[in-house]
Amino acid sequence: MEVPIFTPVRQYINLKDEIDTAVQKVLNKGNFILGDEVKEFENSIAQYLGVKHAIGVASGTDALQIALMAIDLKPGDEVITTPFTFVATAETIVLLGGKPVYVDIDERTYNINPELIEEKITEKTKAIIPVHLYGQPAEMDKILDIARRYNLYVIEDSAQALGAEYKSRKVCTFGDIACISFFPTKNLGAFGDAGMIVTNNDDLAEKVKMIRVHGSKVRYNHEILGVNSRLDTLQASILLVKLRYLDSWNERRIEIAKKYNEALKDIDEIVIPYSEPYNKHIYHQYTIRMKRRDELAKFLKEKGIQTAVHYPIPLHLQKVFSYLGYKQGDLPISEQCSREVLSLPMFPELRDDEIDYVVKSIKEFLKDKG
Ligand SMILES: *Cc1c(COP(=O)(O)O)cnc(C)c1O
Repeated sequence: MEVPIFTPVRQYINLKDEIDTAVQKVLNKGNFILGDEVKEFENSIAQYLGVKHAIGVASGTDALQIALMAIDLKPGDEVITTPFTFVATAETIVLLGGKPVYVDIDERTYNINPELIEEKITEKTKAIIPVHLYGQPAEMDKILDIARRYNLYVIEDSAQALGAEYKSRKVCTFGDIACISFFPTKNLGAFGDAGMIVTNNDDLAEKVKMIRVHGSKVRYNHEILGVNSRLDTLQASILLVKLRYLDSWNERRIEIAKKYNEALKDIDEIVIPYSEPYNKHIYHQYTIRMKRRDELAKFLKEKGIQTAVHYPIPLHLQKVFSYLGYKQGDLPISEQCSREVLSLPMFPELRDDEIDYVVKSIKEFLKDKG
């Protein structure tokens, strides 16, 4: 049996009529740049999250960059974040001349360890970017408390966690700004690149809206430095259809995670995902840990099961950031997790027989090679 780690095709087949109609409508109108559907989708996301402003941009990466531009990140400013994330979280800091300062993670949740943040704060620190990794909210109370005491901005990287909740409140509503990605593999995926910035701060919202259109409010009148980064109208029309299903898809992810957990929880060699009791973890990824990770991945591949490592090299050890001077051993939990994590097939349309096959194959590996 072939089991993909993710496929967008089943979702499209299920929603084909609705999506085709929505796309056709945009094609007929020809309102490709910031059309009505973009506004409508922005309003829908604002309403879904309960925030004042939602501003569509071209990708999650652009959302991060524009958020950092909106808080006026200047060359030399430091931003505290996790090394156990996708590169975009830190690359955008450097693009603006800032310096990422990495803080190790909690080995149970894989999110930034708030106990280690304070010792990294200097007079140059401008912001903290927590990432809600794999769909599990970061420890927001502690992070916000530190940010308040040191007067720092908090930018939530919510690329993997749309719909996740921390203490019964949705992520994206805690920081000064939150960044969402609609990359096709994400819980709410477009048919290409797309992203969104959300905030309750009127001034930041105003700036973000200007930055995404070359720093202008009035056409050809440029007040601040901007970029070209708009959420595409075609993508917005597709996302509008899909948003109606997001909660049910997240529930199915939780159900799949429960099935995996139930089947794998008694295996000593495997660490199943831990979710804080007050978190609603929405399992963007279902990620286990195991010393023999590479062997298991190879075995599953031979069985037709796709897996992935999120992420094989923590950012502080990436070549692109070597000038920052981090060494092997500096952030030991992130380094260990990079060697041991393995993400199993996870998407709402994954069938029960496929889950059973994945579990059966893992057990076969443990029996054969135990
Ligand atoms: C996907 C992702 C991004 C970037 O989003 P894109 O839409 O691909 O640019 C940023 N941060 C994290 C944690 C992500 O998973």
